[in-house]
Amino acid sequence: MGIDTDLATFVPQETPFRWSGIRELVYNQNLDSPFRDVTRRILFDAEHGLGVQVRYFEVAPGGWSTLEHHGHPHEVIPIRGNGRVLVQDRILHVAPHDLVYIPAWAWHQLRPEGEEPFGFICIVTVERDRPVFPTADEIEQIKASDPEVAEFIRY
Ligand code: MN
Repeated sequence: MGIDTDLATFVPQETPFRWSGIRELVYNQNLDSPFRDVTRRILFDAEHGLGVQVRYFEVAPGGWSTLEHHGHPHEVIPIRGNGRVLVQDRILHVAPHDLVYIPAWAWHQLRPEGEEPFGFICIVTVERDRPVFPTADEIEQIKASDPEVAEFIRY
């Protein structure tokens, strides 16, 4: 059986954390947005047949990802800078090459720690449900879980 080498791809990193031909997907942001200063890049997508999408996110210092939960899990691998990751009622302090699994329906939010951008690989299934944002009641419940969590979350 022949192997179709036309399907092979090689995408070199041009400068640190930037890959040839992979464009930055900027979320439209305003003051009501549930995130702040987040960019996204899709590194591998459905066409490779693994059933997953591999994304690279970067959160600028002072920024935050959306506080959300959903029925699909995340596999997160920080590769740039240090960060803090809310997983339900815990805050993890993470560094490059740590491994974080965010289970289905766990509330989560990611923020940089320090003056460097926080960049991380995030793997998701191609087929997945949409994120759900917390209601006002749910925000109060999340805050009540831990004072550190209450201080940490942005929404
Ligand atoms: Mn998520």
